Amino acid sequence: MKYPRMQNFINGRFTDIDSTRLLTITSPTDGRELALMPCSTAADLDAAVNAAKAAFPAWSQTPIKERVQVFFRYKYLLERDLQELAELVSEENGKTLGEAIAEIEKCIELTEFATSLPQLVTGEILEVSKGVECRTEHVPLGVVASIVPFNFPSMVPNWTIPNALTLGNCMIIKPSEKVPLSLARIAALLKEAGLPDGVFNIVNGDSEIVNAICDHPSIEAVSFVGSTKVAKLVYQRATGQLKRCLALGGAKNHLLVLPDAKPDMTAQNVVASMSGCAGQRCMAASAMVAVGQVDHIIDKICAEAGKVIPGKNLGAVINRESKEKIERYITEAEQQGARILIDGRNTVVEGKEQGSYVGPTVIDYVKPDMAVAREEIFGPVISILRTNTVDEALAIENANPYGNAAAVYTQNGSLARYIIEKANAGMIGVNIGVPVPREPFSFGGWNESKFGVGDITGKSSIEFWSKLKKTTTKWNPEAGINWMS
Ligand code: NAD
Repeated sequence: MKYPRMQNFINGRFTDIDSTRLLTITSPTDGRELALMPCSTAADLDAAVNAAKAAFPAWSQTPIKERVQVFFRYKYLLERDLQELAELVSEENGKTLGEAIAEIEKCIELTEFATSLPQLVTGEILEVSKGVECRTEHVPLGVVASIVPFNFPSMVPNWTIPNALTLGNCMIIKPSEKVPLSLARIAALLKEAGLPDGVFNIVNGDSEIVNAICDHPSIEAVSFVGSTKVAKLVYQRATGQLKRCLALGGAKNHLLVLPDAKPDMTAQNVVASMSGCAGQRCMAASAMVAVGQVDHIIDKICAEAGKVIPGKNLGAVINRESKEKIERYITEAEQQGARILIDGRNTVVEGKEQGSYVGPTVIDYVKPDMAVAREEIFGPVISILRTNTVDEALAIENANPYGNAAAVYTQNGSLARYIIEKANAGMIGVNIGVPVPREPFSFGGWNESKFGVGDITGKSSIEFWSKLKKTTTKWNPEAGINWMS
């Protein structure tokens, strides 16, 4: 094994996990075994929660202008170690080094936003009648939890860590059991940045720890990012225990391509959106709805897809199981009459025969009832559905149960405006294939892509990670003068 056996991070120290249930972490790029990860038990979670509870009084009472200093230093440390952090992300997740560098750069941007929180969380005050004032202030919740997926080992944790901690909470985070290595490095950097012991804790494990987090009486709020199936389970279980919960789920993002779209730009964008991070992004283009005659653009999409080379500018998918699942989707669509224009099945990268690669795949003449049109594939695959009108295209987009993102490619501003209004998704792109809002704007989908109120990043996250104290005071200034005299 390249790395030592995984440990938890509790009360500022890496601690052994006493468990016989071991998982093996392997690199998707070449199947190399990287580390063994013992699965923690509820007792490990208890130890972490106790550490967080003990740290909470001092951390929450530290003024935010002092707390935020940790994140100025943490941002610098992310910049200092960018290359090393990116290499680790690439190694455990399988994305290309360039994509991993972009991921760490995004972590830096997320931390930059957190450092602006002191300017954003000021409360309000108003004299509502003579001598009577109402004031509001954001106060931290207590011990909170963050449960994260495999596809962004560093970015998704950093959606939650800097904001929740700067706002005065103490956190338990459960990494994805497929990619736990990056979070251990993050813990070391937070400690180096001066974060007090117990404020941030990692408990490695699988669904057993997720369930224990939802049930734990001392955890006030749970944020979850992962598949819709598990998001629903977590949302129901955590809110069933009367906790605050925000659970982000999967996606099936549609790109509407109109005949007046700029052909080169559209083709490059569609291919980048569907194949970036090997299609393992909740914002990836998964279905393209071609409106009218756009064959000239589809030809260019195929040409662009031909430039995406597995093992060079296309990373691996997370494991063999995932590769086989993606290939089954493609085969099933073919058997049902769709045309495979570019076929990424049976991809083997020379020298990395044990890697889990799927080449870029373009499937045309997909029907709305096929699984490739309805389900999240999470691989570098685009399914093209043909329609004659914008309303037909919107009907297809809006019939899908998810609602993370939708995009339109057109040069017609009025049509774009119409589609923005009608599309039933939380994040909309116009001539942009991956419409991720950048800080200070918030990230979050609709429908089956998110359960709970508010969004997970940006300004909206303030409401999730804090509660509002409303104080009404009545002091008669004249009475004070009389007392003084
Ligand atoms: P996943 O749902 O399998 O796992 C997410 C987390 O839940 C992991 O920590 C895992 O240990 C835990 N988990 C898995 N099964 C569980 C169960 N039965 N009970 C309790 N906990 C369980 O997701 P994944 O495969 O790691 O990540 C990919 C998914 O995440 C995709 O669907 C993708 O769209 C989604 N995602 C969504 C967003 C978003 O912003 N909406 C962002 C990133 C990823």
